[in-house]
Amino acid sequence: MSLELDLTGRVAVVTGGSRGIGRATALTLAEAGADVLVAARSNAARAREVVADIERLGRRAATVLGDLTDPTTPGRTVQACMEHFGRLDILVNNAGIWEKGAIEEVTPESLERTFRVNLEPAFLLCAAAVPLLKESRAGRIVNISSTASLLGEPFHSPYAASKAALDGLTRSLAVELGPHRITVNSVAPGWTETDMTVDELQTGTGRRLVESIPLRKPATAQDIAYAVAFLASDWAGHISGVTLPVEGAYRIRR
Ligand code: NAP
Repeated sequence: MSLELDLTGRVAVVTGGSRGIGRATALTLAEAGADVLVAARSNAARAREVVADIERLGRRAATVLGDLTDPTTPGRTVQACMEHFGRLDILVNNAGIWEKGAIEEVTPESLERTFRVNLEPAFLLCAAAVPLLKESRAGRIVNISSTASLLGEPFHSPYAASKAALDGLTRSLAVELGPHRITVNSVAPGWTETDMTVDELQTGTGRRLVESIPLRKPATAQDIAYAVAFLASDWAGHISGVTLPVEGAYRIRR
């Protein structure tokens, strides 16, 4: 048995794949041998750069563009995967937004925005992908949650609630899809250096937050991508329904 993390012959869809955690995940899955459909909202040039990087690794790649708040985008994304690669083995629901606001500032519009990006597309993508994942020898769904799901997050309560709901989806589908050899897990990043957090991490509060992480540094997008690749691989074949925190022991610090 090889001890290489090997995804040769698998096909993955990664949403939000043109930057941050999604880009790192798309490249890491490709490095492990997978072909990848990079789903991006609208920045075709950046998505094409990721495709070119994947092709340089010797894997096949393609892009599909679409705002995931459009309810036709999830179905179109899975359809594009079929057209390009003829199969689907790994779905990574990664696209997300992180909006700040005290509870008094929450409006129906702000709530709807967060849930329509962070939660609803994951349901619709799973619904569209499951018939294909059932045909895979080892179907995988990995949802990118957050430590906000596990801890709550003051001044980001809609975000925390959307990620907690995503973890509810993970656990429900793990049981529902288990008989089809499909595993469903979440990865819960803590503070991770991406466009999403770059401003916050540079403030005094952000620097104090980083000092309070036992490992004394935020995660990189690559740190999160390794966890996704592990859960997508045969090494995690009997792991399903878990939320894997990748946060340098932030949750259990004293
Ligand atoms: P990021 O750099 O801001 O990237 C977010 C990605 O989501 C982008 O690719 C973006 O596409 C895509 N996206 C946003 N709204 C979309 C929409 N309506 N339709 C389609 N795509 C959309 O953030 P990140 O840090 O990599 O975050 C990735 C995931 O990790 C998110 O789910 C986030 O909640 C989670 N997470 C991040 C952290 C952190 O500290 N960074 C911590 C915990 C969890 P565009 O490029 O088109 O904007």
